[in-house]
Parts: sequence; structure tokens; C-alpha cells
Amino acid sequence: MALTPEQVEEIKEQLMNLEPDEQQKKLREILSKLSPEEREQLVGKQECPFCLMVAGKIPVKTIYEDDKVLAILDINPANKGHTLLFPKEHASLLNQVPEKNIPHLFSIANKIATAVFEATKAEGTNIFVANGAAAGQTSPHTLINIIPRFAKDKISIAWEHKKIEEAEMETIAASIKKKIPQEKPKEEHKVKSFSHKVDEQRIP
Ligand SMILES: [Zn+2]
Repeated sequence: MALTPEQVEEIKEQLMNLEPDEQQKKLREILSKLSPEEREQLVGKQECPFCLMVAGKIPVKTIYEDDKVLAILDINPANKGHTLLFPKEHASLLNQVPEKNIPHLFSIANKIATAVFEATKAEGTNIFVANGAAAGQTSPHTLINIIPRFAKDKISIAWEHKKIEEAEMETIAASIKKKIPQEKPKEEHKVKSFSHKVDEQRIP
């Protein structure tokens, strides 16, 4: 949820008449109650610790780096080897990452997960994104968590299974489908159907 301009004004008014150190205290109190997106609206993205890591202003244990992404060891890991992968360009949510950068981001996530799996001799991995405060996101910068998992590690990423009526399942499926942008047919589709034709002709 974004703050309305009226809410931003209201917060500024609350801070205006305070002494500098009281102001800092009040600001911290207000920020602690806001979602990452709302926090960014108030204090800007230069406060983002992950952007500061990209800029080399906070020391990190780098796992992987290229011109688009950075992967570091989480300083408060769920398990040893817990890695955070993120785009270098600031985005508070995954859907704010430019579409053209998504394939690279997930390709690297998959490669790092394999490396983490092998290096930690794990039994499994989670590749996990929390999108928004309600989903458990606590950082202002979108992150892909890569967590090595062991059968008895007692990490909980579990939920109760709800029962949904058939008719409601139909409705929700239809409403989600409608929201997925339709991709235009690409050149490679034509190539595929052409080679398929050739294969058919070769069948004796
Ligand atoms: Zn950032």
C-alpha cells in the first residue's frame, strides 16, 4: 500500500515542530510501522541497505556478482549458506524489476541454488521471494532467498491447507487468467511448427 499525499503531509507536520533528536526518534517510530514501499516513499531509496551494499558502502560476503545482480551471504541466515540474490538496480518488489532482467535473475538464482546445495551438502533448497509486508518482506529491496535445507532443520515455510468450493475455484482461476498479459506469437513459434512438419514427412 502506498501512502496518500495527505498521509505524507500529516507525517511531515508531526515531525515539524520537534527538536532534532526527538524528530529522529519519532521518525524511526513512524518508519517501523510502515511497509517497505511506504518507507521508501518517505525517506527515498538511498536509505536502502541493499543499494548501499551494491555501492560498496556496506561490507558483504559476496557469492556472485555481475553487472546486473549481486548475491551475498545473509548475515542472519536460516541455515549456514543462506544466500540473498538481488538486482543491482533498486526495486522494492519483484514486479518492479524490468521484464528483460527477470530471466537472468532467475537463471542465476537456479545456478546459485545448485552451488549452495552442493557446497553445504544440503538435502534440498528453497528459492523464496517475499513480495510485500503481508508476505513477510522485511527489506526495502526485493530479494531472492536461497536456503539450503535439511530434513530435520526445523525451518518452517508451511501453511494450513484450506478447502475451496469448486465454483469458487473456477471463479478465481478465471480472474487470475484474465490478469496474465497475453504474449504476442514470436518468430521462433513459426520455426518450431516448420521443423515439426519436416519431421512428419520423414515418418515412413
Ligand atoms: Zn535498494
